[in-house]
Amino acid sequence: MGFLKRLINKARLKSPYVFHFNSGSCNGCDIEIVAALMPRIDIERFGMKLVGSPRHADIMLVTGPVTEQIKERLQRIYEQMAEPKFVVAIGSCACSGGVFRGGYNVLGGVDQAIPVTAYIPGCPPKPSAITFGAYKLLEILAETLGVAPPKKEIAEVPKPVEAKAEEVVEV
Ligand code: SF4
Repeated sequence: MGFLKRLINKARLKSPYVFHFNSGSCNGCDIEIVAALMPRIDIERFGMKLVGSPRHADIMLVTGPVTEQIKERLQRIYEQMAEPKFVVAIGSCACSGGVFRGGYNVLGGVDQAIPVTAYIPGCPPKPSAITFGAYKLLEILAETLGVAPPKKEIAEVPKPVEAKAEEVVEV
């Protein structure tokens, strides 16, 4: 692999853009994704950035089960992403249909419509689980691009800072 190609692949690993698609979730998983993006967990420290268009994204995060109605739209959005592209199913509903499985219009998990790279189960999964899943995905991305994987320490979730009684200011 040439120097320029290696440089481009390294930059790609350090700036995977993420697109979020709700295929019918109850919003529980979506709130946990927002929590993972907020300053305490801060998955943006991996270089991940939430974008508004699938055309700009490398990774699609999907929450909720796939229904007959949403299947075609989900496939159309997936086709708009450039290669190499990855899909992460977040939550039990996206993994298998979850509590909606067996519903008259529910097909099951996201893999019933598009290929899925990683599954993060839970109802909903904790932001720390989403962070760990994101790290695992970066490992797959590094392997695909032929560059060194990111350091393991970045997957660690920082512990909350406890305020001491004398630091609390009452208003
Ligand atoms: S996995 Fe749980 S929280 Fe997530 S969309 Fe399904 S029911 Fe809601």
